[in-house]
Amino acid sequence: MTVDDWLRQARLTPLEARILIAHALQWSRVELVTRSQDHLNDTQVHAIETLFRRRESGEPIAYITGHREFHGLDFELTPAVLIPRPETELLVELANARLPVGGNAIDLGTGSGAVAVALAHLRSDAQITATDISFEALQVAQRNAARHHCKVHFICGDWYHGIDGSFDLIVSNPPYIARGDPHLTQGDLRFEPLGALTDKADGLRDISTIIAGAPLHLKAGGWLLLEHGFDQAVAVRRLLTNGLWTDVTSWRDLAGLERVSGACLQQR
Ligand code: GLN
Repeated sequence: MTVDDWLRQARLTPLEARILIAHALQWSRVELVTRSQDHLNDTQVHAIETLFRRRESGEPIAYITGHREFHGLDFELTPAVLIPRPETELLVELANARLPVGGNAIDLGTGSGAVAVALAHLRSDAQITATDISFEALQVAQRNAARHHCKVHFICGDWYHGIDGSFDLIVSNPPYIARGDPHLTQGDLRFEPLGALTDKADGLRDISTIIAGAPLHLKAGGWLLLEHGFDQAVAVRRLLTNGLWTDVTSWRDLAGLERVSGACLQQR
């Protein structure tokens, strides 16, 4: 068998098949082309078969290869962390625009560290802290910070647990899928950590906890930015409408969906 034979008979899309073959053989994209007629040995055939079988049973490509690009950076991933989504890049852009020069920010529930590391990579002037309740996730996040030479201070804990001091910016992509949502049992989500996807309540429980605690941990004039589900913007803005916040706003992702909401803590 050659790579070309595999590509012809694969039940995957050509792109997925190429990614998996390159990963199985540890070949570059260029080698995939220049060596497409090489005769593969048994070990190589077995390696490709194993990865194809995993993909055919639904496992996400990002977990099979252990990598995903986010905000132009390569992130290591394990099944202990959510796979970074392109729409979450909006959260990074909004955070970058609102973080004052030399300021400090905290990313709550950092998972792979995608948001915290992307922000730290853009802003070497700022101090970035990131938390997660999952120690396993923090280990992945720590490796991602090291991979991109970013200084991020990591804390293991539940939302604000163990957080001292006040920040110019709080950012979070919390679990916001409601318990029992059919998406949880479909596609890639079946393989992702449930605790990163759903709050096991109405989808607004963790978002409410983060909003309720934010005034205690934000400087006056500081911003809170939250990613949420495509149909949650109105509810999130309502949670921010309690006299403590100004500039309550939602922003649309590239698909045109209101994906991030936030507000500025009133000057006292
Ligand atoms: N955006 C993810 C999805 O809908 C969910 C991530 C999250 O809950 N923060 O697949």
